[in-house]
Amino acid sequence: MEIEEFRQHGKEMVDYICDYLKNIKSLRVRPLVEPGYLKNLLPKEAPEEPEEWDAIMHDVKTKIMMGVTHWQHPRFHAYFPAGNSFPSILGDMLSDAIGCIGFSWDSSPACTELEMIVLDWFGRAIGLPDDFILSSKGSTGGGVLQSSASDCVLLTMLVARNEAINYLKTIKTKKPELEHSVFLSQLVGYCSKESHSCVEKAAKILLIKLRILEPDDNGSLRGETLKAHIEEDKAQGLLPFFVSAILGSTASCSFDNLTEMGVVCKEEKCCWLHVDAAYAGSAFICPELKYLLKGIEFADSFNVNPNKWLLVNFDCSCLWIRNKTKLTDALTVNPIYLQHAKEEEAIDYRHWGIPLSRRFRSLKLWFVFRKYGLSGLRSYIRNHIKLARYFEKLVKQDGRFEVVNDVRLGLVCFRLLACDKINVNLLEKINSTGKLLVTPAKVKNKFVIRFCVNSERATKADIDCAWEIIGNYAKLVATNLLSKKVCAGKLKKCKAQRAAFVRNVSREQLNKSVEDRNLTDLASPVLVSESDEEI
Ligand SMILES: *Cc1c(COP(=O)(O)O)cnc(C)c1O
Repeated sequence: MEIEEFRQHGKEMVDYICDYLKNIKSLRVRPLVEPGYLKNLLPKEAPEEPEEWDAIMHDVKTKIMMGVTHWQHPRFHAYFPAGNSFPSILGDMLSDAIGCIGFSWDSSPACTELEMIVLDWFGRAIGLPDDFILSSKGSTGGGVLQSSASDCVLLTMLVARNEAINYLKTIKTKKPELEHSVFLSQLVGYCSKESHSCVEKAAKILLIKLRILEPDDNGSLRGETLKAHIEEDKAQGLLPFFVSAILGSTASCSFDNLTEMGVVCKEEKCCWLHVDAAYAGSAFICPELKYLLKGIEFADSFNVNPNKWLLVNFDCSCLWIRNKTKLTDALTVNPIYLQHAKEEEAIDYRHWGIPLSRRFRSLKLWFVFRKYGLSGLRSYIRNHIKLARYFEKLVKQDGRFEVVNDVRLGLVCFRLLACDKINVNLLEKINSTGKLLVTPAKVKNKFVIRFCVNSERATKADIDCAWEIIGNYAKLVATNLLSKKVCAGKLKKCKAQRAAFVRNVSREQLNKSVEDRNLTDLASPVLVSESDEEI
């Protein structure tokens, strides 16, 4: 493609993107396709000859888009938000055009230096202790971008493992001649049942024993639970070397008791405390939410994903480390082909992570910080929290439902006051309509529906619309189940409850809740159709 052709198609692509996002609410949130749908539509072999741009875009519109789940849809309430905003998209576009591979300062100085600066900006805005801020006086730490929270957890566990093995070799056993692997079986790490599965995955990769501990009734891991397990393990001759605390859990947005856990970790010889705040961390830029970060002074490392809740596109996960030497000790290898003259004065981020190659990811973060300002970002977060509280109120006002989590940020976990099976059924029915997407979780051993406020421009009307859809389907599901006598074993027990929320609901009522269905020629022609509403 020549430059003038790119100029033209680039402008067309921006138009396409604008039209897509403008019309997104008329599309099904989740597509109606079966596994393997695309291989029936596309050739088996790559084309031998170059193709026309218009032909490629035609396939995007008619074949690709029909299999897309629209994460930016106003009725996408699944998972957590997938950060997205125009400044971020433009920042990434520029990053792609610059196309540098910033593994060292020398390989593209601005790539390294902007990353250092925006991580300090963000770290300060969150309220991390000065030790984590690269440019603060006497600081030993700093921040770095990674691809994901999973990478951050793996990386910190790896650094902690290195620390712990060095401790065992040189201090505890005084046998520095032994191989690292000899000590592996002595290490043990800890996290809560509420922690993200990436902690377990990291332990699996690093061949580490991990204790997954029971949180209290509020989903919060407590110091005494941690302490009891640590003592038990030490009695077995193990070394507690790593604890991953969670601030804002994925299932229910619960918070571990960081202060209590921190106190326990500090009593140990060599125990790293990591804090995973992948979703919730962005909210700490609001002064009224900084109380949720209490205990951060005990942490050795902290991660948050602006690609979740700070309007930055994937991938963009921020990791701060209190002691950067520990990080580089664990990771530095330095072949001559990567060395440069300014190594003493500059940061080489390749020593701060696993990959060598690094994109210019700080650009999109910088664009977002500048275009919204911290005040704009705070308003965005506050709007989501306000809407989550509003949704919580609607659920609580309806006697058929209960809210099962403490709604502090943008996530509400709720369920019908009935057995799990009815709730599973409700979730499936809601999602199969294509009008709304929500995801499940287990909270306090019960099946719950997670409803997260995700869309950048979410409004009260969006929440009303979502609630209307949920309420109507709740009625239908209950009616249906009663008539079919599903849930047979528990029928008696559930019957009274179910009878309470079964009311007649008309088709018209159901249909009323779906707005604008104008077909656009730009994207998936698969829209919410009347026939989808069969239950
Ligand atoms: C989403 C999430 C993760 C995983 O994030 P990735 O960036 O996809 O690896 C980890 N921890 C928490 C608390 C999360 O919410």
